[in-house]
Amino acid sequence: MLPRRNLDPYATIEVADPLEGLRIRLTIWLLPLGAVAALAAWGLSVLAGKLSLPDQLLLLPMALGFLLLEVYLWRNPHGIRLVWQVALGMIAVYQIFSLYYEAAYKLHQRDGITPAALWFPMVYLMAFNLLSRKQALRFSLTYLALGLLAGAIGLVSSPSLNVSSANTALQFTLSNIAYLSLLYLFAYLRRHYAQMHQMAHTDALTSLTNRRAMQIKLDNELDRARRYNRPFAVLLADLDHFKRVNDTYGHPVGDQVLREASGRLLQHLRESDSLARWGGEEFLILAPETDLQQAHRLAQRLLEAIREAPMSGVHVTLSLGVACYRQGDTIAALLSRADEAMYRAKAAGRNRVVLEEQLEDVIIPAHTTPDTQ
Ligand code: GH3
Ligand code: MG
Ligand code: MG
Repeated sequence: MLPRRNLDPYATIEVADPLEGLRIRLTIWLLPLGAVAALAAWGLSVLAGKLSLPDQLLLLPMALGFLLLEVYLWRNPHGIRLVWQVALGMIAVYQIFSLYYEAAYKLHQRDGITPAALWFPMVYLMAFNLLSRKQALRFSLTYLALGLLAGAIGLVSSPSLNVSSANTALQFTLSNIAYLSLLYLFAYLRRHYAQMHQMAHTDALTSLTNRRAMQIKLDNELDRARRYNRPFAVLLADLDHFKRVNDTYGHPVGDQVLREASGRLLQHLRESDSLARWGGEEFLILAPETDLQQAHRLAQRLLEAIREAPMSGVHVTLSLGVACYRQGDTIAALLSRADEAMYRAKAAGRNRVVLEEQLEDVIIPAHTTPDTQ
């Protein structure tokens, strides 16, 4: 997606997290699995005649809850965050209740940690994977505090309190604080990674997709075009006589013109199109589902968008070369045809569009009225 309305590279970091799609797919699989696990735990405990109070009260509602969340997610794919919050809340309630129960009725019979306590820290892992860093910290601290409170109430009300159970409770408390601190550190690193990822794929001057990121997009589009036999076009756009702009008005004005030109080009693209700063004053547009005729109209619109009004007081024009995917194409071959077409546009006097099919018999007149799409 284009950074169309948001030119601050850091503001989209949560969105740019590359694990987001994976998490959503995992959720779709894990919710029914959670429902089956809860049902199985309930069924087996009933068979074994060992249904504890938390299991008796909570396992079936949890199984139902997971299934309802799955249905909700299918109907509202954008409701994923709500699904995560509710699922986490349900698991947290179960864990806290189980901890109380184990502390009150089981701990004194054992020499060490109980099964419920072993699973308790899993909720932090889930929270730090699914929620934002601050939300996860708030949620986890509240969860830990309630868990410790429930455990303490359980311990106090247990039939006997021995040194071994006190030691277990202490180890549990300290180890949970350690897990939580390490996870918070990990969340900081993840944010740092997301920033680095964003910077590695963004042009610093214009905030557009940079060349590296565009190369990835081109490879992906080529795969898609080959697999589904779909068209796509690339448009190489180079500002005319830009060196003169710098020489006449100075480099800072040149920079400002580049920023404004990026904004204008973006305004004339579809959401599905991608715009990259390909080189100094050269832009590359990737237009999926676009044949040569449509790409020609788009190129004319972009040409007009740049020349219709001065930017930072400077009148600038554009030369565009357009090429479309052909069967058996490579990205290098496609780009080289677009490049060739762009250079023909320059050679023919600039301020115009040249299509790859016109490479032999150039040229479109310089001031054609642009078509509208
Ligand atoms: P042509 O019409 O043939 O493309 O001429 P041109 O002057 O645009 O092309 P040339 O390749 O000779 O020069 C490109 C100019 O673009 C020179 C360079 O200083 C300028 N340029 C490239 N990147 C930037 C930038 O980030 N900021 C500014 N202000 N200028 C840049
Ligand atoms: Mg140029
Ligand atoms: Mg150039």
